[in-house]
Amino acid sequence: MKVRIFDTTLRDGEQTPGVALAPEQKLNIAKKLDALGVDAIEAGFPIISDGEKQGIKMVVNTNLRAEICGLARTDKKDIDAAIDCGLKYIHTFIATSDIHLKYKLKLTREQVLEKAIEAVEYGKSRGLQVEFSAEDATRTDREFLKKVFSQVAKAGADRIDIPDTVGYSTPAYIAEITKDAIQASKLPISVHCHNDFGLAVANSISGIQAGAQCAHVTINGIGERAGNASLEELVMALQCLQFDKKFETNINTKLLYETSRYVSSVVGVHVQPNKAIVGENAFGHESGIHTHGVLSNPLTYEPISPELVGRTRWFQVGKHAGAHGVSAMLEEYGIQPTKEQTREILERIKKIGDQGKHVTDVELLAIAGEVMQQPSLKRLVHLTGFSVSTGIGNMPYAFVKLNIEGKDFIGTDYGVGPVDASINAIQKITGEIAKVRIKDYKLDSISGGSDALCEVTIKVEDVYGNLASAKSIGEDIVITSVQAMIDGINRIMLKKILKQKNLGN
Ligand code: MN
Repeated sequence: MKVRIFDTTLRDGEQTPGVALAPEQKLNIAKKLDALGVDAIEAGFPIISDGEKQGIKMVVNTNLRAEICGLARTDKKDIDAAIDCGLKYIHTFIATSDIHLKYKLKLTREQVLEKAIEAVEYGKSRGLQVEFSAEDATRTDREFLKKVFSQVAKAGADRIDIPDTVGYSTPAYIAEITKDAIQASKLPISVHCHNDFGLAVANSISGIQAGAQCAHVTINGIGERAGNASLEELVMALQCLQFDKKFETNINTKLLYETSRYVSSVVGVHVQPNKAIVGENAFGHESGIHTHGVLSNPLTYEPISPELVGRTRWFQVGKHAGAHGVSAMLEEYGIQPTKEQTREILERIKKIGDQGKHVTDVELLAIAGEVMQQPSLKRLVHLTGFSVSTGIGNMPYAFVKLNIEGKDFIGTDYGVGPVDASINAIQKITGEIAKVRIKDYKLDSISGGSDALCEVTIKVEDVYGNLASAKSIGEDIVITSVQAMIDGINRIMLKKILKQKNLGN
């Protein structure tokens, strides 16, 4: 069965606390969603602002393959605002639960029903496709909900949506009311699940198994409070898990990771590392037992191949590492220690891990170099001098002294801030020597307060397209950034040198 994917990243996703999108940003995300293959895009809530209207209009006028939808309360002026944006499809909603009726709308059930019918009739009279949502459906009296669904269907609605507005449903209950909605309306049903109890995807799947044809989802599961059902999790679960029926979507799953990263960077909401499918650690392995298993057959510890969602697996050495993992990582650099040497390398790694420290690739190579008595496997680039000045009224300026393979180099440059100036100064030197440029820079604060630790992740690329990323943790943003950059450069230079060496062998 084909499941329709209705993406609401640009509407419910934008309702994430702290998120606001400019019109061009909406358009850029809409294009990404369209390329990903979503069937419908809820582009926004037209009535809320002029900028919102402008963004929706831009999406409507771009001729995307997906259907474009806009949110409207059951008020004429909301529906008119949607029409003004050129929308042909609205998602209109009114709350039906007693708690919303009493404390928010101050309306009786009869009045709510009347407003719902009027809105659907008005939308249809204006030639729109109308999807009707009974807000807080899962906390609504079940008989009343059935009545609302059957009446809006009679009024001409094209689709019915069941919103689990506060994530209150269980998988079993949403299945029941999905069946109710089908029976009462005879229309295609959507489910719109929130993640307050971490059940958004499970509830969506349960609704779909009970006969819903469509799920409202967002990229990375962003949305109000704990967010919405996450598109990537739902799509992969439908495609990969065992069900009575076979489910399919129009999503090009190979673009999932890229789309997740893009949305995260535009909206400024990071993806937690342990998030399914798109989290940094979703295809990472450290433990020796797991690494060993994955190396002999990835299916031992990976439910799906990372390539399926546009990713690659990675291994990390650390205190849980085993000989197989260490050998595999060194193998990537063309290094083959003996069994005895591998044991020694592993012992040293575990010692570092027991001190609570994390071992980078460069450190692993340095350890291997020491154990194997190969001095070439050490850091090629050393930071030997560094200062930076910043303030108001003069442009941030950095001085960097690097020692690369025994030779000293000096670089100075300006930047928009101290980090930028420092990175620019480093690139001035390494741009010529190593032909390395920075591709991605991410700064996270690990704890609160002005003495918080920060974490810098940097991705660098050389002219041959070799990529390396490095992470550094420290108290000083500028020095931590510089260290991450130097580590990234070391990684990429070592990779290149070792590759050349092995080709020569
Ligand atoms: Mn919602």
